Amino acid sequence: NETLVEVRDLKVHFPITRGVLFDRVVGHVKAVDGVDLDIPRGRTYGLVGESGCGKSTLGRALLQLTPPTSGKVSFDGIDLTRMPPAKLRGMRRRMQMIFQDPMSSLDPRQNVESILTEGLQAHGIGDSRDERRRIISETLDAVGLPRWALSRYPHEFSGGQRQRIGIARALVLGPELIVADEPVSALDVSIQAQVVNLLDELQDNLGLTYLVIAHDLAVVRHISDVVGVMYLGALVEEAPSDRLYTEPLHPYTRALMSAVPVPDPEVEDRRERILLAGDLPSPANPPSGCRFHTRCPWAQPTRCAEERPALRQIGRSRVACHWAEQIASGELRPHSVDA
Ligand code: SF4
Ligand code: MG
Repeated sequence: NETLVEVRDLKVHFPITRGVLFDRVVGHVKAVDGVDLDIPRGRTYGLVGESGCGKSTLGRALLQLTPPTSGKVSFDGIDLTRMPPAKLRGMRRRMQMIFQDPMSSLDPRQNVESILTEGLQAHGIGDSRDERRRIISETLDAVGLPRWALSRYPHEFSGGQRQRIGIARALVLGPELIVADEPVSALDVSIQAQVVNLLDELQDNLGLTYLVIAHDLAVVRHISDVVGVMYLGALVEEAPSDRLYTEPLHPYTRALMSAVPVPDPEVEDRRERILLAGDLPSPANPPSGCRFHTRCPWAQPTRCAEERPALRQIGRSRVACHWAEQIASGELRPHSVDA
């Protein structure tokens, strides 16, 4: 099976409640509002967007840690959204999550050995103590932690090492899919590359499939095969990584790219600077038509405010913009560009 994860028209809406008993539903936060995507086996899908765009909720809904409101998530051809809870628990070892801050997701009273043993026991992996020890030792080697780490506690490690413990905890179960939510954003820049390289190496050695969620475009660039950009609960663009970064097609992606600093200060930065007007609207009350129209420098009268653009294939990309071709050709110019 080429596609490991298939997401179709996925929606996650959270009720907004009022009243003394919080029993009056006055609206819904449409955190994820109709997302379609495929994650190929053995590849990395990078999911980017500003905080509040719904990317973390999508990651959690994909693993059924947050129940979707509607839509479908298939894993290896199996529909997770219709699966009874007991069966879903059995699937968990195949789909693991890595979090941004390992300090808050690791129990400070457990040493590394007991953190790793706990998962094995919960899933009935390893017949004997020796067998579990062997699996744990191999996992430590794989993430580059020394054996003496087993008897130590999370606070005794640096941030980068703690993230290695978080990765080991996921890895020890032998998963096929790992959802990594901002896996390096809490780390020093110098450590970030090491952890990203480790994830990449583990993928090569173990054939893992990743969904890597990040607000930082630079982080997912080198590790991702495909990148999806989210805005207000919807995917606005998806493209092979090399394509997205060199030829972004959606106005929102263009704006994000124009804000990424150029790595070499000696090289003159000739790129267009796109400044977005206004703040991110509330996902409880998203704009009509194209959700991006209130901030889009290319927005056209009536159609952009009235008709929601579908995600459609343009070359190797999928783009949700009525005017993507006209913008790419230069036929349509932005209303305001700080040149
Ligand atoms: Fe901008 Fe209109 Fe395209 Fe939306 S559909 S991104 S508002 S040009
Ligand atoms: Mg890779």
